[in-house]
Amino acid sequence: MTSDSVVDADVVIVGAGVIGLAVAAELARTHSVVLVERHEAYARETSSHNSGVIHAGIYYATGSLKHRLCIAGNPALYAWCEAHHVTARRTGKLIVALDGDRDGALDAVLQQARANAVPSIEALTAAEARAMEPEVPATAALYSGSTGIVDAIGYARSLEAAARAAGALLAYRHEVRRVERLNDTFRLEVSDPDGAVSTVRCAALVNAAGHGAPALAASLGYSLDGDATKPPLRQHANRGRYYDVVAPEFARAISRPVYPLPRHDLGGLGVHLTIDTDGSLHLGPDAEWLPDDAALDYRSDDARRDEFLASAQRLLPRLRAEDIAPGQVGYRPKRNAAGEPEADFLIWHNRGYVHLGGIESPGLTASLPIAAEVARLLR
Ligand SMILES: Cc1cc2nc3c(=O)[nH]c(=O)nc-3n(C[C@H](O)[C@H](O)[C@H](O)COP(=O)(O)OP(=O)(O)OC[C@H]3O[C@@H](n4cnc5c(N)ncnc54)[C@H](O)[C@@H]3O)c2cc1C
Repeated sequence: MTSDSVVDADVVIVGAGVIGLAVAAELARTHSVVLVERHEAYARETSSHNSGVIHAGIYYATGSLKHRLCIAGNPALYAWCEAHHVTARRTGKLIVALDGDRDGALDAVLQQARANAVPSIEALTAAEARAMEPEVPATAALYSGSTGIVDAIGYARSLEAAARAAGALLAYRHEVRRVERLNDTFRLEVSDPDGAVSTVRCAALVNAAGHGAPALAASLGYSLDGDATKPPLRQHANRGRYYDVVAPEFARAISRPVYPLPRHDLGGLGVHLTIDTDGSLHLGPDAEWLPDDAALDYRSDDARRDEFLASAQRLLPRLRAEDIAPGQVGYRPKRNAAGEPEADFLIWHNRGYVHLGGIESPGLTASLPIAAEVARLLR
């Protein structure tokens, strides 16, 4: 976009993470679409700082958006990756009970999985679990056959290509500074890194700005606290750090993601072992609440080595401190604050404005049905 230009589109989408890109790929088939992203390329925030797991839908409250869209998104994501040559592997995953875990906890996860109609879940004995993952001292386990891993950046790239091929205009290095509603349309002020301001007008606005979603909604005049007719739009950030297993002897130490029993009270699933599509082994993420005004700093540090090692050694006892190094850092956009019950995704439509709030995990897995739902709301 050039300085002082005015662009008109049916739909403007803010944010080129996997959610905004999936919405662009879907809507550009039938509408003129402009996607505005402040970074120089797609997937520079949460969409490239995650575990890359294609989730099965086990843990979410039955009937919630997280549950339904994850269950729908899992096969849709495998099919998309197959059709668009994105690397994805149906590895399955293990949720393991370890010495000292409370009795019945694994059974509670199995009941939740069954209530959520998760396919291909089975309970394993210690011997069966150890046959699958000989390094992990499981006393019992659940195997989830539909879980897998995906190259998240490759997936984002394929969505971007699909959006472009369908005619979407992608405006990188442009930040939406202000939005106003003018009768039946929206007017956005967008600035480039040199400070030049452009105007974009559109009939529909999709806020897929991730951690930036509340600020954009507030600029449009919505109260973040909600009211009798509008939901709260406030979000909080919860940091997830990873450590990478760097010692070469751990290459192929496990064949699939391995999770301990979940700790929902801590805001995450507990430090687990993940592998990525090139076979590297990672630990994490942990979960740490940030103050609401904290900047999201993607640089890693070595502040949690002891805690990570202690948690990871329960799953991989021969791991030593020198085998691991600080890895990536991601930030969960959460609608619940510390100590509050887990909140659901928010997909909220109000007079041509669609707000996507709290799209934390399993947002990568659920991205295609989230896009389909946005298209349905705008029809
Ligand atoms: C630690 C961690 C692990 C996870 N693991 C998994 C997993 O294994 N499986 C899974 O399914 N999900 C996982 N997730 C969730 C998944 O990563 C997210 O749901 C998904 O990436 C969200 O994508 P998004 O497009 O909403 O957000 P983002 O990727 O953050 O994109 C939002 C974009 O909006 C842009 N933006 C914001 N404000 C503005 C503005 N004013 N103007 C222009 N651009 C703007 C930002 O620059 C950003 O690029 C994980 C998340 C975290 C944090």
